[in-house]
Amino acid sequence: MTGTTGHPCPESGLWTTTHGGCREQIALSKTNIFPPCPHCRGAATWVLTQKTQKY
Ligand SMILES: [Zn+2]
Repeated sequence: MTGTTGHPCPESGLWTTTHGGCREQIALSKTNIFPPCPHCRGAATWVLTQKTQKY
């Protein structure tokens, strides 16, 4: 599952982006808007690496 900067998050969890020399991870909740890359502030493609557990 992937998301792009400026679009709403489809699934709560940990999201990772890797592009150029950047490797960043964020926690984002469903319906929140994907931010730019925290490292270079550029538009990024985010990949879901871990879903948030539901208790
Ligand atoms: Zn970057």
